[in-house]
This record gives sequence, structure tokens and C-alpha cells, in this order.
Amino acid sequence: MTTDILISEVGLRDGLQSIQPIMPTASKQAWIAAQYAAGCREMEVGSFVPAGLLPQLADTAEVVRFAAGLEGLCVAALAPNLHGLRDAVASGAHKVTLPFSMSETHSRKNLNRTHAQVIAEIGSCVEFLETLPGERRPLFEVSLSTAFGCTLEGAVPEDRVLSFAQQVVELGVDEVSLSDTTGYGNPYQLRRLVLGIWRNCGSDKLSGVHLHNTRGQGLANALMAVELGITTLDSSLGGIGGCPFAPGASGNIVTEDLVFMLESMGLSTGIDLAALIDARELVTAALPGVELFGFTPDAGLPIGYKKA
Ligand code: ZN
Repeated sequence: MTTDILISEVGLRDGLQSIQPIMPTASKQAWIAAQYAAGCREMEVGSFVPAGLLPQLADTAEVVRFAAGLEGLCVAALAPNLHGLRDAVASGAHKVTLPFSMSETHSRKNLNRTHAQVIAEIGSCVEFLETLPGERRPLFEVSLSTAFGCTLEGAVPEDRVLSFAQQVVELGVDEVSLSDTTGYGNPYQLRRLVLGIWRNCGSDKLSGVHLHNTRGQGLANALMAVELGITTLDSSLGGIGGCPFAPGASGNIVTEDLVFMLESMGLSTGIDLAALIDARELVTAALPGVELFGFTPDAGLPIGYKKA
């Protein structure tokens, strides 16, 4: 199966961590299986943080082990530090993302770490990974979070993002990704950041973006990313998670709407949209009272819609 764009489903991590109810492990497994059957080939299924911090993701190791049994599925997980990375490797994750907040205020509040401390931690993670045999070594990505702006600091200087991208690439991470954690981003800003990182670090060091739809700019930013040549887009089934600051707006880009846009444009995602929309029922049943978003599921597929 050849795909033009790899959709990385993050609902099980970014979505579930931002809502109160805890989804049972069996329901997470059913969700993963349904989306895999619909053609999804990358899913971020949890985060290796202490269970006390995020009880919604306390079963991440078990969920990763389950997902790793599905052939051809790239199983991704978040790890905020070396400890989490070790756990991710032990459970068999194929891709591990460490978030590095471009806002130091946000970094101190969320990870309790200064920029210098995060950079030192990333260095320790690279050293640890180098001790592993190739077949056990996951792809190690640093996500440049709050890269488009911060709810605590406001604007984040673009040269700061470019400089940190270069520093972590020089430390030996496989890739960086750009993350619009706060939904502050716009398409031209995304273009400047992507082109700047490619120029400074090499175009093989940034292939994915993580966009939010807090201000309704998610698909516009995604389109710009695709036009530039970005090949991996994060999104979330039903835009699950929402956003406490913008009632009625989804958190992440809605996977169903993103697949519809790309496939209608003739770009292949490998995903069967009708099957993807059916998968919403599992999530709704497992999370009563949680709002799911998406224009395409509400409106239905147009007559004559065809996969790319
Ligand atoms: Zn996010």
C-alpha cells in the first residue's frame, strides 16, 4: 500500500489525556483495532508518565504491547524523560516522542524543567538509545511544543524554535516535529518554521507536524504543511479532547475531516473513511458524555465520494 500522507492518530494520547473519564483498556484496544482495520498505520497510544499524573494513561505499557501485535502498525508513545523512554523501549514502542516546550515558563510548569535541563535530558536519552541493538531502538523524535505560541508567554520567537531544533538535531535525535500545542498557529508561520528547520537541519529531520484546531486553523495549517511536503500529520478521531479555552472547538484536528480533505484532493492516506467514521461509535460508547467533533461525520460523505 502506498500512501502520500501518513496520518498519525493521537486520540488515544492527546485526546484521552485532556478529558476526565478514564477509558478502560479493553475499549482502547477495540479502538486501536477498529482504526487499524480502517487503514490507519500510525497511532500514538499513550504516554509514559507516572500514573498519578495522568491516570487516563496509566495502562500505556499494556496498550503499546497490544498495538505492537498489529502488523505494519507504527506504535508511537510519548515520554517526557529518560525514565519514560526506558519504559517505552521495554514495552516495544516503535517511535518515542519527547516534548520540548519552546516556552520556558510552560516547560517549568509542565515538566518542571528549564530549557537547559530538557536539553541535558535529551542528550541522556540519545546516549541510552545508542547502547541498544538496532532492532530494539525506536525512532526518537523531539516535539517542539508551543512552537507557535504559548498560553503563558504569548508569542514565541521563531529564531528560538529554529535554534532549539538545530541543537537537538546536533545532539543526535532522529527527527524533530513542530507542535501547535495551543492552536495559535497560522499557515504562513508554519511555512516559515518548516522551511527554516529544513534549511538549518536538513529536510530529512522534520517530516511531521502536530496541529490543533483551537481557533479553527487546523485544516488550513495542515494544507500548508502538505503543500510544503510534510508527510506525517497528527490528528485525533472526533477531535477528541476538546479545548477548555474554546468551547465548541475541537482540540486536535479531526481525523475524519483531515482524511476527507486529503483523499478528495487525490492524496492517499490508506484510510477507508466510512470505516473510520464507524469507529466513532466505539469511542462514544466507552466515553459517555464526551463530545466528539467533526464536520464530515455530521454531514455524511458526498454522493460519489471516492478514495484517492
Ligand atoms: Zn496536542
